[in-house]
This record gives sequence, structure tokens and C-alpha cells, in this order.
Amino acid sequence: MLNDPRSHGLWEKTAPAPPLTTRLEEAISADVVIVGGGYTGLSAALHLAEAGTDVVLLEAAEIGFGGAGRNVGLINAGMWVMPDDFPKELGPIYGDRLLELLGNGPALVRELIEKHAIACELEKSGTLHCAVGPEGLTELEERARQWQKRGAPVTLLDAAETERRVGSSAYAGSLLDMRAGTLQPLAYARGLAHAAVKAGARLHTGSPVTGTDDVNGRKVVRTGYGEVTADWIIVATDAYSTGPWEQVRREQVYLPYFNLATTPLGDNLRRSILPGREGCWDTKDILSSFRMDQAGRLVFGSVGALRGTGTGIHKSWARRSLKRLFPQLGDVEFEAEWYGQIGMTDNALPRFHKFGRNVLGFSGYNGRGIAPGTTFGKLLARHILGEVSETDLPLPLTEVQEPGFRAVKEAYYEAGAQIAHFTGERF
Ligand SMILES: Cc1cc2nc3c(=O)[nH]c(=O)nc-3n(C[C@H](O)[C@H](O)[C@H](O)COP(=O)(O)OP(=O)(O)OC[C@H]3O[C@@H](n4cnc5c(N)ncnc54)[C@H](O)[C@@H]3O)c2cc1C
Repeated sequence: MLNDPRSHGLWEKTAPAPPLTTRLEEAISADVVIVGGGYTGLSAALHLAEAGTDVVLLEAAEIGFGGAGRNVGLINAGMWVMPDDFPKELGPIYGDRLLELLGNGPALVRELIEKHAIACELEKSGTLHCAVGPEGLTELEERARQWQKRGAPVTLLDAAETERRVGSSAYAGSLLDMRAGTLQPLAYARGLAHAAVKAGARLHTGSPVTGTDDVNGRKVVRTGYGEVTADWIIVATDAYSTGPWEQVRREQVYLPYFNLATTPLGDNLRRSILPGREGCWDTKDILSSFRMDQAGRLVFGSVGALRGTGTGIHKSWARRSLKRLFPQLGDVEFEAEWYGQIGMTDNALPRFHKFGRNVLGFSGYNGRGIAPGTTFGKLLARHILGEVSETDLPLPLTEVQEPGFRAVKEAYYEAGAQIAHFTGERF
């Protein structure tokens, strides 16, 4: 995307085209202006337009330019945080509300994909959180217990069943979550954009918002070449935020994450590796993830940025790891490589911010934004439509707070991943 093959990699190669959009070059008016063309902004645009609201979405670069076009494509039901820790962190009302909403998030994603016939390689076969060693298994046993007491359809699988499903004997067990699944992330974002346009939303790309004012009780949002006057602003810029809400990015610590995609595997390998096409990640601190795309490419990822010395270190680590995990693979060719920045908040939970009267946004999905972004975008639309009050939202309002030593932590994550992968971790 934008001539950078390492920004969106495989997803750019295989996603259907986005709707035709142009740069905003005039002064226009709308009921709601949305800033950011990822899942949060697009879901809000779609739901508002479907309800007959006049909505304009401004995207700085292209649809899915941020995390939405770069991620692994795991549609998760929840966050990294253990279920029991939600009420501890947010109090019982918000904690339980958020947990329930996140648990139902993948169902909303599936519903939208089916309703709008979005071609995005949706797989409904669940995800496997794979246990590395006895410690990993203990963590998953606890996670299973906490979800199961809430009635969630999660099952702890033993090592043999995990091996049968994954095609690797590396794991001590796994947690199968049948609410979850995988998709082609950029195709999903572009599909939401098509649906929003069809419903009447006006989308402008190449239109970074650079400033905002209050004029006669309305909001004016300016780009370099045009402006939108509206009653509401939805800030959906998350970790890739620039311009007036750059503080949203500064609230998060960047965790770089890369992916490598093999060429399509042959039939025998596809029967042995992830024959059921579950999406996987492991319990390690410097985790790895893997999944298949529709054409049978194995997409393998981990923490790290593919730039400078990182490129060679992470790629040779990935080759070694794949050989250990899947000896049947032999030497692999990578067809695509890309990386992005995951925005992490200090308590690993998302944020709800009000930047002024009628200026709202959710952000900080901690690498879990497909279902939450879709869900929170819909919620913001329902709030503006008067269907959900502010106090019924799943998160309390918080001030934007920049974490201490952010730059140091970011440098540590990037260098730490290189050191770990250079010194040849076990996987
Ligand atoms: C490498 C990687 C792997 C990940 N893996 C997963 C995964 O497997 N599963 C999962 O659920 N989540 C995953 N995530 C997280 C997920 O991608 C994000 O949480 C999600 O994309 C957030 O959606 P969003 O719409 O809020 O923001 P984004 O998708 O980041 O979109 C924000 C948009 O706002 C635009 N923007 C910023 N500033 C301005 C401005 N001033 N004017 C106009 N537009 C602006 C940006 O250009 C961008 O397109 C991953 C993220 C990364 C980077």
C-alpha cells in the first residue's frame, strides 16, 4: 500500500479492490464526520448510514491503512486480560458489560460479513491458543475455567488433539474457542467500506485531518484541501493516529509485529498442517501466531519490526522456528512479508475518550481490534442515534494519559524481540 510492500504484504495482494474514493477537495456538511478508515470508523459509518444519518468518513491514507490492513486476521472474543480481571480492573458493572460485549464481538463480525456478502475468506472454525510447556498449560486451564463459568464455548484440548489439529507436536495442549475464527483483514475492511458506501456514507481517502474548530455550535474538521462541518465527530484513528488526536497514539506503547506468508502449500501439507484452519497463537511472552489463508499459504508471525537489522534476524528465526514446529514443511519460500505497530495500553484494555462536546472515540485494542473495533464502531453509531446512553457504554470515560517512558519501552520491545530471536529461542 502506498508503494510500501512491507506495510500490508499478503493482504494487499489478495484483497478485492476498495470502493473508488477521492480526496476531499471542498467544504461540505454532514450530521457526523468520522476520522479514520479502519474497523471502528467503517463500522460506525455503515451503521449510521444504514439508519439514514448523513455521514462522511475521512481517511488519511487508504481504507485499512492502519492496523486493519496489517493484522494477523484472528477474530478474537476477548482481550489478553483474563476474564476475572475485567471486573477487578473496571468494577463489576463495566467489567461484566465489556466482557459480554467482547465475547459477542465475533458474532457481529460474522453477521456483517454474511449480511453484506463481504468476500474476506471468513473461517468459522475457531482459534487455538497453544500451550508452550506446563506453564502455558496451567495458564490455559485457568483461562478455560474463567470463560467456562461464564458459559463461553471454549474447550481445553490435550496434547494429542492439539497435535492432530495443528500438525505439530510442539504444544502441551490448547484452548479451542469456537466463537472465534480468521479472516482476510484488509478484505474485511474494504468490504465494510463498500457496504458503507452502498448505505449512503461518503468516504474520502488521502484526506488527513489536520485541524478542528467549533463554529456556531457545530464542529468543523479540516484537511489540507477541504473541510466538513458536522454535529458529531467520531475519532477512530487508534494506534495510527496523526493530526489533532495524535495523543491517542501517544497513549499507547507500540509493539511491533511482523508476518511472513509462505507460498501455497501442497495438498499433503495442507492435510497435515491446520487441516481445520483454526487460527493459532501461543502462550509465550514473545508470542508467535500462525494461520492459513484461503489459498493454503501459512502465515507465521511474531513480535518484531522488519526493518534494519530486524529484517534478517526475524526472517531467519522464522525459518528455524517453522522447521522445528512443522518438520514436514522442509525449506519454505516466503511470498510476502509485512509488519505493523500494535498499540498497547497500560492495563491492556481499550479506552473510551471524549475530546470535547460531541467528539468521541474508542481506541487501544491491544492487538485485538477486529471484533472490538467493529463492535465499538456500531456502539458509537447507536449512541449518536440516541439508542445507547453514555452511561450504558461498556467503558467509563477516561482522560488520555501518556504512559511514562513510552519511547524507552518501544525501543525495548523492538530491540528485545531482535535479541530473543537472534539468540534462537526454542520456537
Ligand atoms: C501487526 C498487527 C497484528 C494484529 N493482529 C490482530 C489480530 O490478529 N486480531 C485482531 O483482532 N487485531 C489485531 N491487531 C489489531 C487491529 O488491527 C487493530 O486493533 C484495529 O485495526 C483497530 O481498528 P481501528 O479502526 O480502531 O484503527 P485502524 O485500523 O488502525 O485505523 C485507523 C485509521 O485512522 C487513520 N488516521 C489516523 N490519523 C488520521 C487523521 N488525522 N485523519 C484521517 N485519518 C487518520 C489511519 O490512517 C488508519 O487508517 C493487529 C494489529 C497489528 C498492527
